[in-house]
Amino acid sequence: MARLLKGGPVAAARMEKLSVQIRQLNQYGVTPGLAIVRVGRREDDLSYERGATKRAESLGITVKHISLPENVAEDALVDILHAVNGDETVHGCLLFRPLPAHLDTERIANALRPEKDIDAMTAVSMGGLLTRANIGFAPCTATACMEILHYYGIPLKGKKVAMIGKSAAVGLPTALLLMNEEATVSVCHIQTDPEDTKRFCREADIIISAAGCRRLIRADHVREGQIMIDVGINITPEGKICGDVDFEQVEPIVAAITPVPGGVGAVTSTVMSGHVVEAACRMLEIPSAAAKEVF
Ligand code: NAD
Repeated sequence: MARLLKGGPVAAARMEKLSVQIRQLNQYGVTPGLAIVRVGRREDDLSYERGATKRAESLGITVKHISLPENVAEDALVDILHAVNGDETVHGCLLFRPLPAHLDTERIANALRPEKDIDAMTAVSMGGLLTRANIGFAPCTATACMEILHYYGIPLKGKKVAMIGKSAAVGLPTALLLMNEEATVSVCHIQTDPEDTKRFCREADIIISAAGCRRLIRADHVREGQIMIDVGINITPEGKICGDVDFEQVEPIVAAITPVPGGVGAVTSTVMSGHVVEAACRMLEIPSAAAKEVF
């Protein structure tokens, strides 16, 4: 039976430190604020939004929800981000991606002030990730994967990692953070031959799946002794949340696995709250212990 790498204890450890920082901000008369901008009503976005809101509010962070129709005009969305930039009660902003095809993601993402970009959607933040300069924030989900690996003492240096998915929000930055810690990373994506994906998975010490594809990782992708991190959020026909991994098949084989729900998602929402608090500290120029943890 695999060891369950639950997100709860990882999140709890971070929340303890965060509460101290938030009390410090409150003493300066500041309440950290998060804005969540969502276009459309994708089930996985809604689930993520619920988790992020619950976690932020439990810590005393205010949350503004900006919900827009699927057919929103590009200029209208840019105007909303400009309003967020000028809103002093908002220290960090999350915009769900991927955006609908009619929208220019790059133009929209870069309309946000990098100081409020808590999920690395601006070119400035992504540049910081590449150069390892201490500017911006790494994406919350990528950071959450790393925090789980660190918390459970899983070594990365020289280890082989199969990263499934190469999105700007999850797969690509997670691969970069892993390489920053000297792991050897193979990145698989939708155009990778499924047989190659299986081979890279079986050869890996650690598999991280962020494809958004239910039952993608099955018994024939894995072998004994591996660490399985499941980032995927999918909805079953019965309306339940599940990951990319066929848990029934994979859990009896691997050494350790994150559950869905209760794994990466639980940590991501805490990382997001942490980035909002850190953004508020930076704006006030309050020294913060978390600054060093960002990259
Ligand atoms: P995305 O659609 O932007 O990217 C998906 C990536 O997976 C792409 O690179 C694509 O090439 C690859 N892919 C898709 N199907 C594949 C297949 N069959 N084989 C190999 N590669 C495949 O999605 P995203 O924003 O990167 O999110 C990925 C998943 O992670 C989604 O399920 C999303 O809901 C979930 N997610 C979870 C958290 C969390 O905290 N747990 C946070 C963000 C996103």
